Amino acid sequence: MTIYLDYNATTPALPEVADLVYRMMVDDFGNSSSRTHEFGIAAKQAVEFARTQVANVVQVDKAEVIFTSGATESNNIAILGLCEFAEANDKKHIITTKIEHKSVLEPIKHLQTQGFDVTYLNIGKDGQVNVNELKAALRDETCLVSIMHINNETGSIQPITEICQILSSHEAYLHVDAAQSFGKYPFDLDNQRIDFISASGHKLFAPKGIGALIMRRRGFIKPPLKPIYFGGGQEKGLRPGTLAVPLIAGFGLACELAQNNAQKWCEHVAGLKAKLMDSLRALEAEFNGNNTSPYVLNFSVPGVNSEAAMVMLKGIVAVSNGSACTSSSYSPSHVLSAMGLSQEQIDGSIRVSWSHQTTAVPSDEICRIIKELL
Ligand code: PMP
Repeated sequence: MTIYLDYNATTPALPEVADLVYRMMVDDFGNSSSRTHEFGIAAKQAVEFARTQVANVVQVDKAEVIFTSGATESNNIAILGLCEFAEANDKKHIITTKIEHKSVLEPIKHLQTQGFDVTYLNIGKDGQVNVNELKAALRDETCLVSIMHINNETGSIQPITEICQILSSHEAYLHVDAAQSFGKYPFDLDNQRIDFISASGHKLFAPKGIGALIMRRRGFIKPPLKPIYFGGGQEKGLRPGTLAVPLIAGFGLACELAQNNAQKWCEHVAGLKAKLMDSLRALEAEFNGNNTSPYVLNFSVPGVNSEAAMVMLKGIVAVSNGSACTSSSYSPSHVLSAMGLSQEQIDGSIRVSWSHQTTAVPSDEICRIIKELL
């Protein structure tokens, strides 16, 4: 049976999460906005319980969490929701990086068409943003800095703590897209300087279609987000629509399980990664990015095309190349391009990602197959 090694694209739901989601769909199916009977009250209690479970991951108050359909929606609400504040205060400058997910880059590109000025920070060959470049890019009128935590393609971990330090003397809002790290990689995100965090359920063993936006208060002051669409006023009016109670409950449980196990998970996956790296070194593989997440390895072997390798690996392991996660059509990875990789390196890059559920990566077999292509 094919071994699934594409956990950065999506994870399966944990069985206990799936059981809870099922129960909430079939038995405890109330609408959390129904205030007139016990079905609604039970649903609301389940939502608020899950909200606390999500909040606990990054040590915020549950009032600072809203549920969304995933990180794409969270990113859009955080970025577009600040637009009115930025315009009213003449702060129409945004700083982001060249390696953000499209769900950050596209809303920012939209704001650019509305007269916002955007600085796209460069990325080094190591996959890291340069904090001095951020420092130099800040202006009085910068309203938003949006920098991801862990890159989905390379796993490069951005220096969130240093970024927070630089921003400690600036008022710009800081948004961190933590789709690949929330709950799984228990570092950096509890920093009080981060204003917004985007999280995604399906990267964390909850179902697809659920996520959260964390909106930290500064002291007692809420960030000045405005809704980007309108309806029944749910989730502080920022994400109107009937709440997906079963998915929310499942996401809450997934967060609690992750929080209790993340340290152990990180150690386990770091072992898998070290072993695969050792095997690949014999093929003179190049590892794309430094200081990368233990959950993923992005590499290229000179002379080997990733599409050809993936055909050969079919039936053995399910892996992807850099672009697979963001698009159904092939386009060269904007992340690897930003890192200055050659076209050959980009065409050769393979992303392998795993989790605590992965018992072993068949490193020897992967290397044997790749070697056949040399
Ligand atoms: N940001 C990053 C870094 C991601 O990896 C993803 C998923 N590929 C997203 C945002 C979008 O998340 P979702 O699928 O929950 O909308």
